[in-house]
Amino acid sequence: MEKSGETPKWETLDRNILSVIFNKLDAMDLIMGASRVCISWFVASHDKSLWQTVDLAKVQQVVVSYSPESRDKVRPVVFYNHRVDDDEIERGLSFRNVLVNFYQCLHGEVEKGRSLREVLIEITKLSDTAPKNLFFNSHSYIKEKDLMFAAQRMPNIEKLVLPRWCYHNKKSFRFAFSRWKNLKTLIIAHDHNLNGGFEFQAVGENCINLTNLKYLGYLHEYNAEQIVRCFQKLKRLSLRCSFLCVRGVLSLITGLQNHVILNLTHCVFHDVALLRQNVPAIGPVPSDDLVQAATQKLDKLIKCSHDCSFCKAWWERLTLTSLDKSRWHPYDKDWRNDEIEEFVF
Ligand SMILES: [Zn+2]
Repeated sequence: MEKSGETPKWETLDRNILSVIFNKLDAMDLIMGASRVCISWFVASHDKSLWQTVDLAKVQQVVVSYSPESRDKVRPVVFYNHRVDDDEIERGLSFRNVLVNFYQCLHGEVEKGRSLREVLIEITKLSDTAPKNLFFNSHSYIKEKDLMFAAQRMPNIEKLVLPRWCYHNKKSFRFAFSRWKNLKTLIIAHDHNLNGGFEFQAVGENCINLTNLKYLGYLHEYNAEQIVRCFQKLKRLSLRCSFLCVRGVLSLITGLQNHVILNLTHCVFHDVALLRQNVPAIGPVPSDDLVQAATQKLDKLIKCSHDCSFCKAWWERLTLTSLDKSRWHPYDKDWRNDEIEEFVF
């Protein structure tokens, strides 16, 4: 090129080099930026290696407003943001643009963005059925139809992360997990008050290869019984950063026959048996009985040391009398981490 005096052009970059560069971009950069530069980059954006993992947890989200959709639930209206959106959005009268402009007028500071469905549509145009890992953002609001759309267009998912803002009914969950039959690892944040019960049965009946489960939320005894009944093939279980009913954890330890490793780090334990002994029933340290049962049955139990600074900070927040305690949870900044490698994302 230099000998002939020609200036190298972006669109003639070697496909392999483009692939290396595109691998550094997040999903929004690819769908809204790189794939729209030229035909050559558009073609390169279809490379299957770029789409093994769809990581929406790395994409910036803008919560536009909270909108009541039913009597007892208030749901966030979320848009995904991209820095080139200002230039890209057509000045049409689409419903979304009208909605965004309305909220912009109302709140002033709100930026433009794409709905989850729009993002999923654009991603699957490029990825086809390549994705094996699908991670939603911790504050994603996933409508039932969005969940079904993702399952239909990305049927080969092996590792899935669902946030607590994931509404579902039996029908949508059954549909979604009937498509995700290759699922091996499931990470769920569950808030019973927001979503009601989790459809463990729909997952268990369809995902017969599921061996890794991370459950982040409030584990009651009946949740534990459902996990035992539906996920008998589980080998690895993480309850990191959860509120745990001790009897529930005990039933997991004794009931799961293939279970080899359990993560109980940074948890708060609720033990009704202690009440009878006039001992505080809630605390940040697992009881001796629980530790003994786990170490006897399992290959490995992961728990915090007594001076864990993470637990101390969380416990101090929990025991605050002010309303501040409800505004912070380890979930918000640490849910991508785990001491068990399979749950890191
Ligand atoms: Zn800890």
